[in-house]
Amino acid sequence: MTRNIYQERYYQKNREEINRKNRERYQNDPEFRASRKRIQAKFRQTERGKEKQREDGRKYHQRHAVKLKNRERIFISNKRQNPRGRNCELCGREQNLNYHHWTDEHPEWGMWLCKSCHISVETFDRGYLDNYPELKEMIQNESSSNSPSSRS
Ligand SMILES: [Zn+2]
Repeated sequence: MTRNIYQERYYQKNREEINRKNRERYQNDPEFRASRKRIQAKFRQTERGKEKQREDGRKYHQRHAVKLKNRERIFISNKRQNPRGRNCELCGREQNLNYHHWTDEHPEWGMWLCKSCHISVETFDRGYLDNYPELKEMIQNESSSNSPSSRS
């Protein structure tokens, strides 16, 4: 896949056009695609190919890490301020607070909660508390109909 100086000049001059044509051919020509894949697989076996793969992996990781970091930075800077200062917005106790939010699209939709309130609202958001009042009543009814006083 090495090019001589004239081929290189030609390539540099027409790079976009050549790349576009190659991409098109790669998509539409199964034989071309297969031969390209064979060449790539062979290249990956060589020392240079292995080094290139490691390099690509590093670059991908870096790009991705930067993206994630930016997203996190944006998220943190958009958190809603706690109007109650260092106190839980639900129970009012002064505790270490967690930021509870329900959609990454809106980091400003959030509340500052102590650990136990945070667990409670997470449970609530999952819908696990929906049956709580009913379950409570059912258990009370069961036990009063089974209790010694009602049996006698
Ligand atoms: Zn709380």
